[in-house]
Amino acid sequence: MRIGHGYDAHRFAEGRELVLGGVSIPHEFGLAAHSDGDVLIHALCDALLGAAGLGDIGRHFPDNSPAFKGIDSRLLLRQVIDKLEGLNLQPGNADVTVVAQAPKLARHIDSMRSNIASDLGLPEERINIKATTTEGMGFAGRGEGISAHAVVLLNE
Ligand code: MG
Repeated sequence: MRIGHGYDAHRFAEGRELVLGGVSIPHEFGLAAHSDGDVLIHALCDALLGAAGLGDIGRHFPDNSPAFKGIDSRLLLRQVIDKLEGLNLQPGNADVTVVAQAPKLARHIDSMRSNIASDLGLPEERINIKATTTEGMGFAGRGEGISAHAVVLLNE
């Protein structure tokens, strides 16, 4: 069994769709990024790659590559799972925390969980997604952006 941790943060930007866990969420800002800016999935990809000893998301999907411009991050996540399968590693469970002052995410959590479970090939009860504010403190609290932390176990 292996454990991995991932962290990512993106800045809010005007004129972009906000996508978290593969769910489009109504908000006045989206997240600036080369991809769709899905910070939750980026943290999860880093946790999976970390557990497998495969570096990080930037190494596999460079943010200067036209191939990944505007890409749906779920496609990146599925490519990460393919890399793990090549090493005979299977996700056991994942626990993700999204840190955002706004928007409120509670009503979107079930859809995010369903998407992630599908991409990881796991039952939904093996996926946990939480959202928290920072009570107004720091960059998330000031509404400058959103961050996410992820922890996963891999079975071999
Ligand atoms: Mg990112």
